Amino acid sequence: MAASESQPGSLSPLESPSAEQLRKGFKWLRFSGPLEKDFRETYRAQSRVAVQLNLWLCLCLVITFALIARAILPEGPDRLVTLFSAGIFVPIVLLSLVGAYSPLYWRWHSLMVQVLAPAFGVNLVFLALMVPGLETSFLPGLVLAIICIYFLAGLTFFPAARSGLIVLAAYVAGSAIASIELDRALYGSLALLSANIIGATVCYRLEKVNRTNFLEARLLKEMASRDGLTGIYNRRILDEHVDTVWQQAMRERAPIALLLVDIDYFKAYNDNFGHQAGDEALRHVAQSLARSARRPLDFAARYGGEEFAVVLYYATREYVEEVAARIRQNMEALALKHPASPIAKHLTVSIGAACVVPAPDRSPFGFVQLADEALYEAKGQGRNRCIIMDKEYEQMSTGSFRKTYSSDVRPELARRA
Ligand code: GH3
Ligand code: MG
Ligand code: MG
Repeated sequence: MAASESQPGSLSPLESPSAEQLRKGFKWLRFSGPLEKDFRETYRAQSRVAVQLNLWLCLCLVITFALIARAILPEGPDRLVTLFSAGIFVPIVLLSLVGAYSPLYWRWHSLMVQVLAPAFGVNLVFLALMVPGLETSFLPGLVLAIICIYFLAGLTFFPAARSGLIVLAAYVAGSAIASIELDRALYGSLALLSANIIGATVCYRLEKVNRTNFLEARLLKEMASRDGLTGIYNRRILDEHVDTVWQQAMRERAPIALLLVDIDYFKAYNDNFGHQAGDEALRHVAQSLARSARRPLDFAARYGGEEFAVVLYYATREYVEEVAARIRQNMEALALKHPASPIAKHLTVSIGAACVVPAPDRSPFGFVQLADEALYEAKGQGRNRCIIMDKEYEQMSTGSFRKTYSSDVRPELARRA
């Protein structure tokens, strides 16, 4: 449901964490708050397929490389080292492939690569140093290992840089322990340092672009779900939310409520102050509504025109009364002057609320209809009040949804009132 992505109850209507993060920047490749967790989850899901393909690619390259080396290299240390490296690489890649296709593994992928990649690099370093004179023959393998860490393992910048630098550190320490000649140790270290610098630079830029794309995509989605004037959720998201909440509440046998909130005599307000002032008032009312529905799963949206909707999950009648009272108190506190209103000195709202426990023989359509009937009744009883309907659900006449009301109450509702 939309409310699980961001929580409109606690979110001030025009606030957007993605926009804020884009404005602030993220020099250290880290977002604030829950955005970071969301990014990591998205990144992990995206890199999963990429890593699987990369591993197949690695396997093909290692085997091809070993076959070519076997065919063209003369007998000697270089040929031996190449075949030896392939002998280590192939089982590791095969094992990684098994892991990459099992869903359980992916929770541990980043940690595994951070442990295994340096371990693999360090291993190669010690092998190279144990066989005197062959350490430079292992260098291409080590450079390739660093490139794989940065670009093929699906790691973010910092874990990749940590792993790559450990391989370099192991090489430097190994050279010192094995008392390798200084110029050869320096040559090898420089080659690995260069691989790290290139890897780190490109990896940093790639992650920056990745993160920017992530924020922009979220921002676009947020904008498409918001109402342009007021910044709270729009009708499309409201409809989706009602459907989702309905299904979930049916599974959990949970009571849910829909409050339709309609500004009283708003046409007169526009006529009196002009449309611009009307728009400004709509923004204030929307913000005040979003503040009134403040539990994590509470949801506020613009229904259309000067009407708003609030959806409450696990909503007892008492809670609905509490929210409705808070909405009306907040409207009073806003104190938007409305001299043309025959019922109050300031802008007021009428609220129609439906409280139901969804069941298979009921529908979201009827749920909205019930709230609409309650709103109609609130208007009919003189406005600036809340009418809650829960028991009337069974007797509700279908087909009366969204009949335009005049300022007078419909006869059948008058009888019920
Ligand atoms: P009632 O108490 O019966 O609800 O009376 P009302 O005047 O609020 O209702 P009516 O349906 O007659 O008029 C709704 C008004 O809301 C008319 C329309 O100009 C205004 N309105 C709808 N959308 C907007 C908007 O986006 N901006 C502005 N400024 N006004 C809007
Ligand atoms: Mg209206
Ligand atoms: Mg109105």
